[in-house]
Amino acid sequence: MSTVLANVSKKFGDVSALAPIDLAIEEGKFIAILGPSGCGKTTLLRLLAGFEAPTTGEIRMNGQQVAHPARVTPPEKRNIGMVFQSFALWPHLKVKEQIQFPLKHHRFTPAHLKKRAKERVEEMLEIVGLQEYGERMPNELSGGQKQRVAIARALAPQPALLLMDEPLSSLDAELRMDLRQEIQTIHRLVKTSIVYVTHDQAEALAMADEIVVMRAGRIEQVGTPEQIYTQPATPFVATFVGKANLIKGSWYGDQFKPFGDEAVIWQSSTISPQIRKQGYFPVRPEQFALDKTGSGITGIVRNVMFQGKEFHYSVELNGELITVHTDQLQRYSPGDEVVVKLNQAVSLEKHVSLV
Ligand code: ATP
Repeated sequence: MSTVLANVSKKFGDVSALAPIDLAIEEGKFIAILGPSGCGKTTLLRLLAGFEAPTTGEIRMNGQQVAHPARVTPPEKRNIGMVFQSFALWPHLKVKEQIQFPLKHHRFTPAHLKKRAKERVEEMLEIVGLQEYGERMPNELSGGQKQRVAIARALAPQPALLLMDEPLSSLDAELRMDLRQEIQTIHRLVKTSIVYVTHDQAEALAMADEIVVMRAGRIEQVGTPEQIYTQPATPFVATFVGKANLIKGSWYGDQFKPFGDEAVIWQSSTISPQIRKQGYFPVRPEQFALDKTGSGITGIVRNVMFQGKEFHYSVELNGELITVHTDQLQRYSPGDEVVVKLNQAVSLEKHVSLV
């Protein structure tokens, strides 16, 4: 289902949860809404679901207006499915019954379609890999299995749009990785449009076709994972996705002189105007190297953590802490003076070079 939000905002009393936003969600796409706590992700999802009326603007689904400040099409009339962080399974229903339940209220109501509903339950159990678990009760399932049931239940009536609100947040790290892949596979199979809310940038980068980065009720950037990661539009996106260090300095055309050493010049033609305007050059932790001498910005190591494949350093540069991740064998200790350089590998990325 194609969905369009035009000038949609939401206020709760004096609190502005969502500034007026415009957003188009194309049919069949997997969209991640990514942002920190309180940025308006859930409010946006609730507006899409029909639990809230917008304060301004309108939402259209497949060209039909479903929300407007004075008129809201309720969730059950929107052909949408929902999956929540908390699973929200009914404690007294078996797995099969959980999945069959919404079908009774949708298109399989007449008695002669009961058989089709049963087949659909089996199809869904197969899609989420729970063929053997149909007779179990929710309290006999692991967290990951519960979430698979919730996904199967949401998809059983073949919704045109699936809304997922932090569905993996309550699962442990390993299971989250497994379910990421499964959700991607399910999306490829069913091709339903998905809007997936998360505050986890790795999850959004790994799964989505397109990411909507939000901050304080506003959209900061919309783009593919690659665009968001390599071409952040704002300082916030650069730090929130990929944890870039914002190095302060001055821009002269495409050349950047970081404060602290006038002899150092970095070059980039693709760093966004908004980031340049604020006098920043974003550098991700793995794009730095440390040295004892040479051309670079001098700093003091404040902390070091060994992570197995690399060291994570905190280095004080011009009074601010930056993060450096490096697999160099040379180990520096807190208090050591170091020269911070751009990693040679960075110059391989065509948009950044060392001069
Ligand atoms: P989280 O990741 O913590 O769930 P979020 O990005 O989903 O956060 P929202 O739940 O959409 O954020 O909230 C956005 C803002 O609107 C917050 O400042 C929140 O306090 C406020 N807000 C949300 N719902 C209400 C409400 N019913 N009444 C008043 N304020 C609300």
